[in-house]
Amino acid sequence: MKRIVQNRGWIIAGIIAIGTFAILLTIFFSNSVTVKVAELNVRSGPSVSYSVKGTVKKGAHLQVIKRQNNWLKVIANHRQVGWVASWLVNDTQITNPRKIAEATIVIDPGHGGVDTGALSNTGKQEQTYTLQIAKKVAQQLRATGARVIITRDSDSTVSLNKRPEIAETNYADAFISFHLDSSDEPNTASGVTSYYYHPGRSKQIATDINDQFRSSLPLPNRGVQFGDFLVIRDTNVPSVLLETGYINSNSNFTAIKSVNYQNQIASSVTKGLTKYFANQA
Ligand SMILES: [Zn+2]
Repeated sequence: MKRIVQNRGWIIAGIIAIGTFAILLTIFFSNSVTVKVAELNVRSGPSVSYSVKGTVKKGAHLQVIKRQNNWLKVIANHRQVGWVASWLVNDTQITNPRKIAEATIVIDPGHGGVDTGALSNTGKQEQTYTLQIAKKVAQQLRATGARVIITRDSDSTVSLNKRPEIAETNYADAFISFHLDSSDEPNTASGVTSYYYHPGRSKQIATDINDQFRSSLPLPNRGVQFGDFLVIRDTNVPSVLLETGYINSNSNFTAIKSVNYQNQIASSVTKGLTKYFANQA
């Protein structure tokens, strides 16, 4: 009788052990992700501003401990605890991600919906071209692996306050607003201007992008300037506003509506941001 009780005790202990093991296995695999880029940085915190503790190779399994703002706290290389960008463990085709790949970038096509923006000399609306340009920028940025969020992807109304809010709620590393300039009299001004409000990171982004504009765009460069615009002022996210030509200059507008010029803007912004993120401490 006693022996039976003892055996039963062992059986119960065995069942508990097997059950625990099964539960642990389930937890491990349900919280495990696979690295889908050639090499992924493991950082000391959940953003690109934290230092790199190590790297993991494509195909490596990472155990997720915690999720925060689209970053994952993981156990990598069996024992190293650190943070990785969640979208780089998804199924992407990025083969050589640089630091920009870990960044969240909010792209803001100026105006839209009831707010048409400025008008060309033939009555064309600024909102149409800011959207075309912003979409090309978003496309090129996504190709780097970066997480890109666009504040509007159609002719819709988005309030001024909502735009920086989208960047804040998504813990963006950069916010880029696209606009077209307009002068009081038609055909009296020309060129491209990169605005910042806050010194520091915002000004650095404006400078890095504008350097590319200066060397790549056919329009005159009016430089990096301070600009008191709500969307780049009332925010904690590094933010710039780009005026990529005068819509009421006939010569500028010819460029603005061309696919070639729009692609040149997109590659300039991508190169500028790539440099900015590469130089971030
Ligand atoms: Zn505008």
